[in-house]
Amino acid sequence: MEPMIRADQTTMTPDEAVAGPDRLTKCDAAAGADGAVTCDRAAADELRERVLAVLDEVKDPEIPAVSVRELGMVYRVETTAHHAHVQLLPTFVGCPALDLIRAAARRRLAEAGIRAEVEFVLSEPWTPDRITPEGIEKLRQFGIAPPVRPGAPSLVPPCPYCGAEGGEIENLFGPTPCRAIFYCRRCRQPFEGFKP
Ligand SMILES: [Zn+2]
Repeated sequence: MEPMIRADQTTMTPDEAVAGPDRLTKCDAAAGADGAVTCDRAAADELRERVLAVLDEVKDPEIPAVSVRELGMVYRVETTAHHAHVQLLPTFVGCPALDLIRAAARRRLAEAGIRAEVEFVLSEPWTPDRITPEGIEKLRQFGIAPPVRPGAPSLVPPCPYCGAEGGEIENLFGPTPCRAIFYCRRCRQPFEGFKP
């Protein structure tokens, strides 16, 4: 017989973690001796939604147009009814803004009355395809080209202003350690993008 707790248990496999960690809720499915699930799944789900809403208000101070959630930095949010454990991925390990982002996330969650731990996970790579479609559009409006996908023919992202491909790398050392300056040949202006 299948254990009763099966449906509520949300232990992740690595595959699930890649597919959609953002959607998982850990419910501390601590089964008692009789196999009953002791946690309040609905309350944990609700807290999780609140945490994600707060994270939507936390910005990378270097890119204030886009939230850490839109940047795909939210790796995992585990909640019980009363507590949240947030794991974030750094978009670039050398980014000096990480401490600021973590502090901002902690402050915002505390202001929302949510008990939470916030930590960065360095064991998993952040990849550009984690950026949400909204995030990509906001980056573009902010004048930052989204990162080039692995395996793309050029290291230079398309121009965020005119969409032209085939630009040049103008300066690998952009305004922050994460970003570089590129140059668009068509509209003849420099633009920012993530470092290739
Ligand atoms: Zn252009």
